[in-house]
Amino acid sequence: MASMADSVNTLPFFYGNITREDAEDYLRQAGMGNGLYLLRQSRNYLGGFALSVSYSGRCYHYTIEREPSEMYAIAGGKSHRNPVDVIDYHSQEMDGLVCLLKKPCNRPRNMQPKVGPFEDLKEKLIREYVKQTWNLQGAALEQAIISQRPQLEKLIATTAHEKMPWFHGIITREDSESRLQNGSRTNGKFLIRQRDTNGSYALCLLHEGQVMHYRIDRDRTGKLSIPDGKKFDTLWQLVEHYSYKPDGLLRVLTHPCQRPDGEISKNAHNKLMHGYRKPVIYIVHKNQYQITKKSTYVMYCVYRTDRTAMPMDTEVYESPYADPDELRSSTVDRSHLFLEDGELGSGNFGTVMKGIYKMRKTEKSVAVKILKNDDNNPSVREEMLREANVMQQLDNPYIVRMIGICEAENLMLVMELAELGPLNKFLQKNKQTSIKNLTELVHQVSMGMKYLEEHNFVHRDLAARNVLLVTQHYAKISDFGLSKAVGEDQNYYKAKGHGKWPVKWYAPECINYFKFSSKSDVWSFGVLMWEAYSYGQKPYKGMKGNDVLQMIESGKRMDAPLNCPPEMYDLMRTCWEYKADIRPGFAVVEPRLREYYYDIAQ
Ligand code: AMP
Repeated sequence: MASMADSVNTLPFFYGNITREDAEDYLRQAGMGNGLYLLRQSRNYLGGFALSVSYSGRCYHYTIEREPSEMYAIAGGKSHRNPVDVIDYHSQEMDGLVCLLKKPCNRPRNMQPKVGPFEDLKEKLIREYVKQTWNLQGAALEQAIISQRPQLEKLIATTAHEKMPWFHGIITREDSESRLQNGSRTNGKFLIRQRDTNGSYALCLLHEGQVMHYRIDRDRTGKLSIPDGKKFDTLWQLVEHYSYKPDGLLRVLTHPCQRPDGEISKNAHNKLMHGYRKPVIYIVHKNQYQITKKSTYVMYCVYRTDRTAMPMDTEVYESPYADPDELRSSTVDRSHLFLEDGELGSGNFGTVMKGIYKMRKTEKSVAVKILKNDDNNPSVREEMLREANVMQQLDNPYIVRMIGICEAENLMLVMELAELGPLNKFLQKNKQTSIKNLTELVHQVSMGMKYLEEHNFVHRDLAARNVLLVTQHYAKISDFGLSKAVGEDQNYYKAKGHGKWPVKWYAPECINYFKFSSKSDVWSFGVLMWEAYSYGQKPYKGMKGNDVLQMIESGKRMDAPLNCPPEMYDLMRTCWEYKADIRPGFAVVEPRLREYYYDIAQ
């Protein structure tokens, strides 16, 4: 299962980021036969492609745009799942093309698809951006990049110009002229200035000692262009285009006029540093580029990206104790804990309430598990302390962290708050949740589980009811009541006997041999995936535990949920591999989910 970029890269007739002229050269070298074609990366639309075809001694170029629905189509044509399907279709049907696609024009031997300048820069920019914006480092930084890569790539693509030396921010027309006239006055020296905060810019170009100003406006769909010029998704694509051909300008752009040192970076730094820091969701209206919560500098970064909160925007991405000024302590002082009215949920131990915990520097919203006073049942207290003990050893963005234990009128376990509650219930009520959103959440769960596996813990109660949502785009694993630490050498836990078990989530070796390992958690994860893609339905509906076991033993498995992507059902089936040693671990499951997620979310 490769991502779209990877799978296209392996096509012999895909040339990567080459220009239209280069494409024509390659077609010419290959004889310009009717219907000879090649595929290249679009240089003006993010994630789009271009198809170059020769016919009757001429070359024709068609943009294959990626549509918001993640389908691909030649403008006005039929939509397909990927660019290869577009090509297959047009080898049968002209449907607007000049001719049928007949023969691929393959790359010369030893030539790799050309990597665009932004691809090279991207990794560095993403890392730097996450570091600065959320002040993250180490594992927290890596996990943020892994889980939010598609969103970050989009964000970076639309803001990367801020880091370019030719981008001078909001300066006057006069200032731009004096900057261009200063120092060397080479023809083709250029800069871009921002005209206002509505996404309008000007390209300022030195030509025969005079500065030309070209307006760059955004159309209703967010595309940028100079009047009557080619349209682009980003400023850096526009600059790249006019750097290789004038295409209506008086000349090509040659020398970026260097921005005075530090000016923008300081400006941009402030925007980036403070723009998203706190858990505020900025709602950007598509096609309008307005933000409901006013904040012009945030808009500067987010227009066109439909920015919803990322996990890193919330209070619970990092441990409260990641701040060195907060004292790490496993006990919570009762006088610093304020319980609010209303229950978040309940279990056989008692209730879970919302509360506020006053820490040294901040006040945190928390969830408080309160043990009911039941002197007859000391084992519930022990169970809760065991759960607290496990949670205390875990620190991962995709796992509900314990903040501390409070021994007061009752025993209380203070945890991070995941206000949207259990995943299964959320999905039952929100059936419009997209497959992309489901995959994002399930992938986050796999990241949390990979962490547990690496740290030799088995969860033993992984199910959609035990995944809690912080936001619609941020899931955390909870309920460590049955969890156990396992030895590094003997990597399973052997239960002494059968208990009150969630049998429908258990692998056969759990029920037959009482044996629990990360591999049996993987089985449960498969059931959790099934629950997610069926929007919170109960697995093995109407069946008794024993019947389920019989069904599994006979080699049968649950059917795919309605509209479940086949790639995801394949993965569930792999999680339900009968033999634990053939079943993959989370080290394999997580990257498989990641790839599929990137593929559909890019
Ligand atoms: P539990 O027995 O741990 O599964 O908790 C019972 C219910 O309490 C859950 O199904 C949630 O609805 C709620 N709950 C538990 N922990 C939290 C939390 N950290 N944040 C928000 N709600 C929670």
